[in-house]
Amino acid sequence: MARRKIVAGNWKMNKTPSEAKALVEMLAPLVKNDDVDVVYCVPAVDITTVVEAVKGSNVAVGAENISDKDKGAFTGEISGAMLADAGVKYVIIGHSERREYYKEDDAFLNAKVKKAFEYGLIPILCCGESLEQRELGQTIDWVRLQLKSDLKDIPAEQAATMVIAYEPIWAIGTGKVATTEQAQEVCKAIRDLIAEIYDTDTAEKIRIQYGGSVKGASAPEIFAQPDIDGGLIGGAALTEDFGKIVNYNK
Ligand code: PEP
Repeated sequence: MARRKIVAGNWKMNKTPSEAKALVEMLAPLVKNDDVDVVYCVPAVDITTVVEAVKGSNVAVGAENISDKDKGAFTGEISGAMLADAGVKYVIIGHSERREYYKEDDAFLNAKVKKAFEYGLIPILCCGESLEQRELGQTIDWVRLQLKSDLKDIPAEQAATMVIAYEPIWAIGTGKVATTEQAQEVCKAIRDLIAEIYDTDTAEKIRIQYGGSVKGASAPEIFAQPDIDGGLIGGAALTEDFGKIVNYNK
């Protein structure tokens, strides 16, 4: 069975609740595509507004982070229970900005992946190499290392439902897109790793996105690759171009 494409916007730390509502309204007529799952991953403070604004549409809402704890004295944290109750379906875990600026390591991210599943949320788990690692030829070894730790003790039934986003750090927000060959090569290596950790059935089901400066003009070629099941989109997710990315096959 063919995997369904999934295109997720990562809004990062952009848009106040009222701006978020306006963006959802602007994008509403542009992001209809029955062939694609569409997700807006939004700042925590925008979740309630965006959940309300996308009601009755094809768009699901994601969070950009989740606590590794359940509840209690963890000032500033947001729990899986809170996200699920607010209507969130997906959660980004391990974005390179969180790994780099907030020092989130793989053991911590593994705890977050477990928490997401505990609360019925689908992780969009990010991985990817730096420019230096790519130039040293370490890309695939590095991504395998990241994912092996991030997926530790996650059962196959859960892994099959999740999304992995391959995001070369040097391509995020830089305007530099990986070539389709580079993107496909790593996404295939990720699928091979999933088959190795679990089995081929899980590897066939898991969805693998490419992320890094994807635009409406580049999406068709990237998403046509056999192991690329859609994209995680930063900058372009805040513009009309997101509609073109979602409708890459029209
Ligand atoms: C991202 O932040 O996940 C991302 C892919 O950003 P951009 O599309 O702006 O490179």
